[in-house]
Order: sequence, then C-alpha cells, then structure tokens
Amino acid sequence: MQNIIDRFISYVTIDTESDPNSETTPSTAKQWDLANKLVEELKTIGMSDVSIDENAYIMATLPSNVDYEVPTIGFISHFDTSPDFTGANVKPQIVKNYDGNNIVLNKQENIILSPDYFEDLLLYKGQTLITTDGTTLLGADDKAGITEIITAMEYLINNPQIKHGTIKVGFTPDEEIGRGAHKFDVEKFGADWAYTMDGSQIGELEYENFNAASAVVTVKGKIVHPGYAKDKMVNSMYYASEFVNALPKKEKPEHTEGYEGFFHLTQIDGKVEETKLQYIIRDHDKAKFEGRKTLMKNVVDELNSKYDSLIFSIEIKDQYFNMKEKVEPVMHIVDIAEEAMKSIGLKPIIKPIRGGTDGSQLSYMGLPCPNIFAGGHNFHGRYEYVPVESMQKAVEVICKIAELTASMAQK
Ligand SMILES: [Zn+2]
Repeated sequence: MQNIIDRFISYVTIDTESDPNSETTPSTAKQWDLANKLVEELKTIGMSDVSIDENAYIMATLPSNVDYEVPTIGFISHFDTSPDFTGANVKPQIVKNYDGNNIVLNKQENIILSPDYFEDLLLYKGQTLITTDGTTLLGADDKAGITEIITAMEYLINNPQIKHGTIKVGFTPDEEIGRGAHKFDVEKFGADWAYTMDGSQIGELEYENFNAASAVVTVKGKIVHPGYAKDKMVNSMYYASEFVNALPKKEKPEHTEGYEGFFHLTQIDGKVEETKLQYIIRDHDKAKFEGRKTLMKNVVDELNSKYDSLIFSIEIKDQYFNMKEKVEPVMHIVDIAEEAMKSIGLKPIIKPIRGGTDGSQLSYMGLPCPNIFAGGHNFHGRYEYVPVESMQKAVEVICKIAELTASMAQK
C-alpha cells in the first residue's frame, strides 16, 4: 500500500491543469513535467517500447509471457487535471483508519469533508483516505488511474508466474477539456481493445454513455427607436423565449436520471436585434437522440411559418456517441472485466454514464474501450478524495483482466 501512496503523491504534487482556451497539445506546457517523469518511470519498472510523441501522448508495452496467441489489451488514463478548480500546490493529507466522522481539510478556513453531505465516505470506514487540504483539487482524476496502471505493470513484471498476453499502456494529456482522445494514435497503440481507468467508486464498470450534440438557435429581430416602434420593432428575446418554451418541459437535466435524455439550455445571449440560445442535447438511445435533433429543427420551422418570416435558424453539431454501439459486438471485453472484479470479491456496479469518456471517442476510432473505476470521489473540486484500498483493488482488477484474457485464449 505504501508503494501506491508514495507513487500517487509523487504525481498529484505536480500541477498538470489543462486549459480549454489553449490551441496547443498538450494545452499547458506544465503537463510535460509529469509526462516526462512517467516516461522515466515506465522505463525504470522495465516496460518495453516506451515512447512519448510531440503531443505528449505516452505509450508503452509489456510483452506477452506465453507462447500462444492472446489478444492485445490496453489500459489508458489521463494525466491532466480539470480546469474547474486549481491543481497547483496540491498538499495531500492522509487519513489512516478513517473513523466515519468529519474530516477537517483546513482548520484555518473551516473546510470540512463530512459524511453528512458526502455519504459515500461511510463506505470507507477503517480505510486509508487521501484528501486535499481544502484549497485545491486532488487530481485522483485521473492520477489514481495512472498510479494503478503503473503499479499493476510493475507487479506483473515482478511476478512472471502470472501469465498474460501483450499489454499496452497509454497516458494522455487534455482529457478534461475533451481532447484526450483526439490525437491518440490507435494504430500505433495496436491493442484489440482497452479500458480507461477513469471511473469513480470501487466496482464501477461502464460501457454506455450519452450520444451528444450541441445546438445554437439564432433568433433575428429588428431594432427601432422604442418611441416609434409600433408595428416595426421585432424583439428577438421574446421570440427566443417562445422557442425555449416549445421544448418538452420535463426533459431537462434537473428532471432526468438513468437512461432519460434531455435538452439543456446552457447560455442565452440576447439583444433586441439578435438572440442566441446555446443548447446541449443528450440521449443514450440513438433513435431518440436523432428525434431530439429533429424536434428542435421542427420547432424552428413551425415558428418561422407561424410568423411567415425567417426569424429562427438552427445549427446542430454532433459531439460524441454512445460507445455501446461499438462495445456490444465485442461484449466479452465487458464480461472479462466483470469476471475480474468478481474473482477478487468486488461487486461490479454497471450503469450508464450520463456524460462521455475518452473511451467513447476511442471506441469510434476503432479501439473499443469501456471504463473502470479508479476509486476517487468528488472529482474536480476541493472535496476530492480517494481510498487507498480502492486503488489497491483497481491494481488487482488490471492484473486479473490480463490473466483472464490469457487463460481464455488458451482454451
Ligand atoms: Zn478523468
């Protein structure tokens, strides 16, 4: 366990916050600081073909130790942290044998991590938690995943009696700004399938995510001096509100859960002359997703014909798709992960992601890629924490998946 703690702390104390406003890859130069360290570490533990490209994508290979054909599998994590909250000067605190009470993160600023609010804490009574000091995020998302993958590879290298096929490791920058998969060279990686170690609670296993699109509705008005506006002024903001109210009232993030999709109005920029409505559209079901896009276009058409004028226009852009479509034809890759968890005494928690992952993009790039827990909670903020025991279990899951993949290929 100490090995995991030391390794994890050596990663989270290096600031790797990504920046959505940057055009470069990685989006921030400081991500190189950890990337270069990871390359050295992969070499030190004895990985082969360790490489880092001009965009800071890291790949490495653990060669097969059996003399028969086994599918090549991969494990992927990201080393950037979310720009939602600062990742500079992270000062991790270790809470040993957690007693189930409030954890004072910061006495001076009275910042408390409480099970009254974060009930999940009670799952980890008696365990060792790593928390922040209340002033930064922790970066367990996803440096826990990196810790687990490297620790698992080190374990497999030191325990050659565990039989496995070729295993690939991939670490990416910029996942938190939606660009982790963009420059990932799937062909070079060369795996038949992979797993992102980027989920939250211990036991999580995910292979379904939203289909996602963005929409911008532009509403044109006419500005005239308000004193002389009779029968002349067209106030785009009123028309825009008509569009907003034409969409189903209950199909919003605040009224939906599970497999229920939604329209989410994220921003309004309005003046008399022009109003822009920004939406995101989300649905797990492909047909319903397409239906949502059609509905928005139909509302635009109906309102234009109602006013006999081209007041409304809409632009819709697809963002990402549900990986289920790509994973279901190779469902054994989920079964293996589920089996691996059960074999070490974990209860798999399989549920649809109400968002996207790098794995969904990778799945559409030809690398089917379900998501497995990395163990952390309360990502992207000061209350982020990770139980060391969950990281330990994730290490075991990785080793077990490698072992099961090889033993199934033998039959
Ligand atoms: Zn993540």
